[in-house]
This record gives sequence, C-alpha cells and structure tokens, in this order.
Amino acid sequence: EKKPIRIAVTGAAGQIGYALLFRIAKGDITGTNQPIILQLLEIPSSQQALKGVVMELEDCAFPLLSDIIVTDDPSVAFQDANMVIMVGARPRSKGMERKDLLLANAEIFKIQGSALNQCVARDAKILVVGNPANTNALIAMTSAPDLDRNNFSAMIRLDHNRALSILAKKIGSPISQISQLIVWGNHSPTMYADYRFALNSDQPLAYNLQDENWNTEVFIPTVAQRGTAIIEARGVSSAASAANAIIDHMRDWVMGSNGRWVSMALPSDGSYGVPEGIFFGVPAICENGVIKRVANLEINEFSKRKLQSSVDELMGERKLILSML
Ligand code: NDP
Repeated sequence: EKKPIRIAVTGAAGQIGYALLFRIAKGDITGTNQPIILQLLEIPSSQQALKGVVMELEDCAFPLLSDIIVTDDPSVAFQDANMVIMVGARPRSKGMERKDLLLANAEIFKIQGSALNQCVARDAKILVVGNPANTNALIAMTSAPDLDRNNFSAMIRLDHNRALSILAKKIGSPISQISQLIVWGNHSPTMYADYRFALNSDQPLAYNLQDENWNTEVFIPTVAQRGTAIIEARGVSSAASAANAIIDHMRDWVMGSNGRWVSMALPSDGSYGVPEGIFFGVPAICENGVIKRVANLEINEFSKRKLQSSVDELMGERKLILSML
C-alpha cells in the first residue's frame, strides 16, 4: 500500500475549489496509483459551505482519496503537506483601492507563509493562485525563510493555455501540435504572450504568422483580457479553466513536462533583465520534480518593452508591501 500524499488547498469552498478538488481526488495531478489526503483550509464563515463540498467528495467514493482534513487553521491545513495550492484570497470589493487589496492579501499570505515555514514537508511544492498571485507568492516565500525558494511558484498557466488555444484556432492546427509558447510576466493585463519561438509540428510558427498587427492588436490583448471577457459572459470569474490550469501546473511540476515548455511564475534570478525580488512568468521545463528555466532566448526591442511593463508593475506592488515583509 503506497503512502498517501498530502495536498493542502486554501479557499477550498470557493468556486475554483469546487472545480479543483474533485479532479485532484480523481488523481489528475498525481496519477491513478497515488493515494491522497486532502487538507482543506477555509475561513470560519465558509466552514459550512466547505462541509457540503466534503460531503460531495465523499459521495464520489474516489478510490484514491484516503482522508479529508477540514480546518480554519493554516498550521493544521499545512501540516506535513507535500503540495500546497493557495487559492483563497480577499476579492476586490466595491470601492476598494488596489493598494488596500494588496495589503489585505499581504496580511493573509504573511500569516500563511509563516505557517508553511513551520508545518509543511521540507520539499513541499507550493503554488499561489489567489490574486495578486505574483506578489502574494513573494510574501508567502519571504515569510517562509526555511523553505527552498525553488519550491514556490505563482500561476500563469491559465494565460498560457488561453494563448495556446487562440493560436491553434488562428492557424487551424491542433493544440497538441503547438509547442514553445510563452507567457511572460505578471498575471495581470501587463502579461506578455509571446509566440516568437513557437513551433507548429516542429516548424517555426512565427514564420507563417508574420502579422505584427494581429500579434499586437489581437493576440496579446485577447489573451490579457480573456478573464474580463469571461466575467462579462458568465457574470462570475473563470473557475473551471483556472482549476484546470492548476492541475496542469502541478502535474507538470510533479510528473514532468516531457521536454515541453510551460509558463510558470518563478522567483526572478536576474535573467532576461528581470530584477530579483519579484515573481515573474517565464518559460520552463519540468523534470524529476525540478523546474528549469528556458535560458538565453533572444529578447528584441518589442519584447523588452513588454517585459518591462510587467517588471514595473511588479516592482510597484513590491514597494507597496515591502514594509510588511
Ligand atoms: P475563486 O475561487 O473564484 O478565486 C480565488 C482566487 O483565485 C481569487 O483571488 C481569484 O482572483 C484568483 N484567481 C487567480 N487566477 C484566476 C483566474 N485565472 N481565474 C479566476 N480566478 C483566479 O474565489 P471565491 O471567492 O469563489 O473563493 C475564494 C475562497 O477563499 C472563499 O471560499 C473564501 O472563503 C476564501 N477566502 C479565504 C481567505 C483567507 O484565507 N484568509 C480570505 C478571503 C477568502 P480574482 O479575485 O482576481 O478573480
């Protein structure tokens, strides 16, 4: 009998949680041979709703789900966790300034970061989804100094998947044939979807798509504004696709990306002119549980400007929360 892996999820009763937990329990991250213990965190006012979600999880009779822990205490939720998926965050309420939202979330991620530092397995893989994800990840990592920085990441995979889908449609090719696509930067409208290196069945795709106007006026803004388009259509923000991107991100990290490039927001290391001290979306390949950046890609003038606007935004966010770290 294989030892269960402990997967902690925060904000578990939220709408992303509702689309995510069932897939985790089914084995979509860790495979069909790995028992799972779910460790679910919610704020006190959402405990009742979470109870209902747990009842539904039980009613699925998932063979791999060996236990479910439910709590409002981060140090219970994170105890010995091998993976931590941080979805819970304060949503922006009417009249709330961006700065107030940043600070409210900084407080949450500082507390949860300290709990991570004390409680999680020393090699736990940690993904931050709750917005502003990149800066929340920075706070969590900084509040957990005993953990390896390389075990922290923030999610930009939904933007990557959106870009992939739009590109496949444009060139009329199956998604599975397209590789080496990148989404750089912040999970915000400054993100930069970049197909300069993309391949379609191993042929350079940019060669057939030298339509700069489509790139700058359609592709890049459509990817960046897709979240807003979904809110307009559905009345609520994307949830199933966000949950799916979480599964993709964690599965590739744990099981490997088979040489494929994926986009992940990682603590910057100074490469590509991105200063240290922020989380930045970059191309990466995952192998044996280790994330390796794709290095030495050419950055032209246009790309440089695009990267810089995400850098400026993230440095601005960093400045606002710096005094709390
Ligand atoms: P969701 O489950 O819809 O979203 C959770 C977080 O994920 C939000 O910050 C959301 O950002 C973010 N997110 C990141 N990427 C995406 C994406 N691509 N698409 C959509 N969302 C994305 O929110 P709910 O309000 O339904 O659930 C959140 C849960 O967290 C609640 O159950 C609540 O009780 C809990 N919570 C926990 C707190 C804590 O731990 N202290 C504090 C506040 C809430 P955005 O808001 O920008 O869409």
